[in-house]
Amino acid sequence: MSTPLEPLIHELSVPGRQGTPVPELDVPKAALPEGLVRDALPLPEVSEIDVVRHFLRLSQLNYAIDQGIYPLGSCTMKYNPKINEQTARLPGFVGAHPHQPVGTVQGALRLMYDLQTYLAEISGFAAVTVQPAAGAQGELVGVLMMRKYLLDRGETQRDTILVPDSAHGTNPASTSMTGLRVVQLPSDERGNTDLDALRSEVCERIIGIMITNPNTLGLFEEHIEEISEIVHGCGGLVYGDGANLNALVGVMHPADVGIDVMHFNLHKTFSTPHGGGGPGAGPVGVAEHLVDYLPDPVVRMTPGADGAPATYGFHHPPHSIGRVRSFWGHFGMLVRAYTYIRMHGAAGLRDVAEHAVLNANYLRSRVKEAYHVPFERICKHEFVAEGSFEGVEDVGAMEICKRLIDHGVHPPTMYFPLIVHDALMIEPTETESLRSLDHYADILLEIAEEAERDPDLLRQAPHNAPVRRLDEVGAARNPILRYEPEAEED
Ligand SMILES: *Cc1c(COP(=O)(O)O)cnc(C)c1O
Repeated sequence: MSTPLEPLIHELSVPGRQGTPVPELDVPKAALPEGLVRDALPLPEVSEIDVVRHFLRLSQLNYAIDQGIYPLGSCTMKYNPKINEQTARLPGFVGAHPHQPVGTVQGALRLMYDLQTYLAEISGFAAVTVQPAAGAQGELVGVLMMRKYLLDRGETQRDTILVPDSAHGTNPASTSMTGLRVVQLPSDERGNTDLDALRSEVCERIIGIMITNPNTLGLFEEHIEEISEIVHGCGGLVYGDGANLNALVGVMHPADVGIDVMHFNLHKTFSTPHGGGGPGAGPVGVAEHLVDYLPDPVVRMTPGADGAPATYGFHHPPHSIGRVRSFWGHFGMLVRAYTYIRMHGAAGLRDVAEHAVLNANYLRSRVKEAYHVPFERICKHEFVAEGSFEGVEDVGAMEICKRLIDHGVHPPTMYFPLIVHDALMIEPTETESLRSLDHYADILLEIAEEAERDPDLLRQAPHNAPVRRLDEVGAARNPILRYEPEAEED
C-alpha cells in the first residue's frame, strides 16, 4: 500500500561512496574535540550524481506556478516575475544584518519607507506598517489596535467582533486569539453580508466588523458603505481583510468606503512566492485615528536640510500596541513586492485588477453550464462553483480535484467558503493567457462529461499521479520528519 515514491536518499547509500574528494592532508594531524563526531549519525554515503538526481526527481514530483496554471481561490497564485528574485538577492539586501546601525542601512530603510508610502497610496490609508509576517498576523495586529483605541476612549464594555459566515478561517481565529468574542453574520441570497442581521447584532458591545471585500465568494460587497455606516454608527470600527485586493488594486481605495484598518497580503496581490508555509508579509494600513497605535517601530523619513539627502530611521508611535515581529519583518518579501509595484507602475497595477476580473469571468462563463455557480452575478477575481453533478452519486469536489491532477493541472481551492456545498473556488489570476484559460475550461468540461459517462474514473482518481489518495489527516497528525532506518532483521 505505502510503497515509497522514490528511494530515500539513505536507501541510495553505498558504504564508502562519496561525492566530494577530500584533499590530501598537508598539515599535522590532530584529534577532533571529544563529542564532535557522532558515530550514531547515519549520514548517507552517496556520490554527487546520486544527490543531484535524487533532488531533481523530487522537485519534478511537485507542481509549481512556473509549470502551469495554479488557480487556488483566495491564494492569488499569480506568476512571480523573476526580476523580484534578482532584486531580493542584491548583496546589499541579502548581506544586511538586523543589528547594523541605522546609518549603514539607509537603502533598506528607504525601501521599507517607500513601500509603506506606495501601499498607503494604493489603499488610501494614512499610514502603513510593514512589520506583520502574514495576513493572519495583520488581522491580529488590526484587532489589537481597534481594541486599544476603544479602550483608550473608556469603552471597556466592547468585546465582540462580527464576522460574516463566508470569512476565511483566519478571521475568527485571529479574533479569538485576542480573547474577544466572535459573532457570525449570515450571507443573503445575493452573496452579500445580510444587512438585517448586521443591524440586529450591532450594539455597544461591538468592537467592530471584520469584512472581506470582494468576499470569499468572489463577489463585491454591494452594501460595503452602508455596512461601514452601521458599524461606525454604534461606535465600532471596520477591519478590512485585504486578501482579495487583487480585484481592486488601482481601481478603488478601500479606505474610501469607511474601512478603518486593513491588511495587505504582499504574497498574494504583489506577487512573491508563497505556499507550503513559506514566508509572506502582511502589512497593515490604518486611517488617521489609528496611526498612533501602529506596531513599534514604523520607518520614518526626515527630509534633508539645504539639499542634503533625506535620512531614514525609526518612529515609535505613542500609543503603539508594541512590537509584533522580531527585527523588521520579512524583509525579502518587502523587496519582492516593492519591485513588483515599481515594475508595474500605477497604470500597470490597474491592469492587474482588470485582467484578473476579466479572466475569472471568462472562465466562469465557460464552465457555468456544467458546474452550478450559486449567486448568478458578475464576479471579481474569483468565483465559487459547486463540485457536484445532479444524479451522480459519490462524486464531489474531492473527486473533481483529484481528476484535475490526472489531466496535468492544479486543482482549485475546495471546501471553502463553507457556505457553498462542495465548493470549488477558482481564481485563475491575471497572469494566465486566453489559451491557458481555455485549456482549464476544456478540462473542467471534460471532467463533467466523464462524471456522466464513467463516474468511477473520478471516484478512483488520480490514476497517473506519483501517489494516489493520501491519508492527509494521518500525515498531518503523525508527521515523520526524519529518517528512521528500518529495524534490521536477524
Ligand atoms: C490568505 C487569506 C488570509 C490569511 O492570510 P495569510 O497571509 O495566509 O495569513 C485571510 N483572509 C483571506 C480571505 C485570505 O485569502
